[in-house]
Amino acid sequence: MITMQRGPQPADFADVRATNLAVVLRYVRGHAPCSRAEIAATTGLNKATVSSLVADLIERRLLRETGLTEHRIGRPATMLVLDGSPYAAIGIEVNADYLTAVAIDLAGQQVLSWRRSFAGLTSSPAQAATAIAALGRRAVNRVLKEDRRVLGLTVGVPGLVSPDGVVIMAPNLGWRDVNLRDIVNRALGEPGFPVAVDNDANLAVLAESRYGAFAGSQNLIYLTGEVGIGAGIISDGQPLRGHRGFPGEIGHITIDPQGPPCACGRRGCLEAIAGITAIIARVLPEVAGDGDITDLQPEVDEVVRRARAGDPAALHALDDVGRALGQGVSILANLLDPEVIVLGGYFVPLAPWLLPPVEAELRARRIGPDTGSPQVVASILDHGAAATGGAATILDHIDAGRLPRP
Ligand SMILES: [Zn+2]
Repeated sequence: MITMQRGPQPADFADVRATNLAVVLRYVRGHAPCSRAEIAATTGLNKATVSSLVADLIERRLLRETGLTEHRIGRPATMLVLDGSPYAAIGIEVNADYLTAVAIDLAGQQVLSWRRSFAGLTSSPAQAATAIAALGRRAVNRVLKEDRRVLGLTVGVPGLVSPDGVVIMAPNLGWRDVNLRDIVNRALGEPGFPVAVDNDANLAVLAESRYGAFAGSQNLIYLTGEVGIGAGIISDGQPLRGHRGFPGEIGHITIDPQGPPCACGRRGCLEAIAGITAIIARVLPEVAGDGDITDLQPEVDEVVRRARAGDPAALHALDDVGRALGQGVSILANLLDPEVIVLGGYFVPLAPWLLPPVEAELRARRIGPDTGSPQVVASILDHGAAATGGAATILDHIDAGRLPRP
């Protein structure tokens, strides 16, 4: 969990120094390329202090000088950018049918992106945890082989996750009270970097707010479009965490009390109607219940093929699903007044057929008919938004002042 330090800090020299190093690092992240003079003028730190802090950050290889110089008044200034090439943060995303691993360097550049099929629906929690930990170990080994240090690893899970990394429940994985953080930690041999576990939608919305088409939006919602549907919410610029860390469970609002059964034990939940297995069951009834589910991408490709070909049954089913999704989206829109709602995961390839009915429902259900609706768009991030968000949370720790030791 991210804890930003606020307010007055103890006047301990080491603390002040660490805080100031983080101030400079954050400034360069937001404004690179920039000069020492610019950092001093904007942060209020004096020039000698900034020079000393920058020297320290260059020695730790968190910043580097570019060949660029800036000529304003007086001497040309050497410009600084984030370095971060010796470091990487890792995110792992767990879905019911596939796993992804992403690593990004300190500057946010992707250095690794893998996708593996995964029998999440038919694996025991122990088997699943073994597969997740194995992927984590391979990602760590790859990063180390490229002479980078691992800053940390965060796992995103489609379920309710406690702050100490216990998956309280994940209906689509059949998990209850699985201490995933401990399992992954042990599988990695108690590494010297932090391991965290968080809800997938909470992580994905962070990635979307940083690297997506609406990066920087202060009011943004991300909907996971997987076997389950979850919402990650940024409201007034802050990630919504709720009282226990469990907000955004939009997949389990009741759309139709007489609807199909849901993995949570109730009937007619949004994800039982508009989750990807429900969509496949509607459009491709012949493959439903066809053995183990591992990686639904081929089935999704077939749904897209039929929709493109104008198959009336496929178009009708997608319109129905889009209307149900639109009901869920309207609840979020009326409750939270977002600027944009981003559809992720398998909703992305299906967006051409889902967006029109979603938008129609939004128009029909908004409170003020003339006040406009939030935009609904398909994510431009590939599968793995939650993995990217997981890695980004590690960078947040660095920016908050937990710098890697030189
Ligand atoms: Zn449910």
